[in-house]
Amino acid sequence: MNFIGKITEINGRYVTVKVDDLLSLGLINSVNDDEHPEVDVTVVDKRLISPVQRRKTYAILRDMSDFFGYTLDEMKNVMKGLFYETMDAHEFSLGNTDITTARTFISFLLEFALKYHMPMRKPALEYQDDLDVYMYQSLKNRSCVICGLAADVHHVDTVGMGNDRRTVDHREKHLIALCRAHHNEAHNIGWPVFAQKYHVKGIKLDPETLQRLGIMTFKRMEEIDGTTTNVQ
Ligand SMILES: [Zn+2]
Ligand SMILES: [Zn+2]
Repeated sequence: MNFIGKITEINGRYVTVKVDDLLSLGLINSVNDDEHPEVDVTVVDKRLISPVQRRKTYAILRDMSDFFGYTLDEMKNVMKGLFYETMDAHEFSLGNTDITTARTFISFLLEFALKYHMPMRKPALEYQDDLDVYMYQSLKNRSCVICGLAADVHHVDTVGMGNDRRTVDHREKHLIALCRAHHNEAHNIGWPVFAQKYHVKGIKLDPETLQRLGIMTFKRMEEIDGTTTNVQ
């Protein structure tokens, strides 16, 4: 079942949709009121890709084409093809796509660059279009958010140093991927100054993600939870 309409009001967690064609609701009306059928709403984004987004996209593609030995056009087609396939996305043109697709495509390109530790003319941080996604991808690929070198996980909220490494609990902490040099700098100048200097932020990961990204195992979490209870 599918219907098209316009959102007329958003009130807290309630969204009102005015349906274009009343007939399209026919089938849904026959569903029992108590069933609360599940929906998956796709909002059509009419804002066009911004010039900055287009510039970022081509800059990343240019660095990629240098690295992989394709022409810019070939590289663009390869990455678009991969994007359609991986993201199950519709074909688009960088000339007139929407702002959300452009943002997703930029994040997709950067993730690819991070994965292959691809050298770039400018820091990937300057190309990112969605800071949260970029911070996450860097943690996932253990790539320094600033320079792209191999990175460790740093706790933004750590109070003081000298934590026993074995009992470090990554849950409920803001994390960031930093190489040795940038890690040292963050400790030397302090997080608030560091965050402002580079325009970066820490992000929280849930236990499932920590386990999936290999940052912290469920076993470790249980051990810590056990330890804490015993200590009391
Ligand atoms: Zn640290
Ligand atoms: Zn670094």
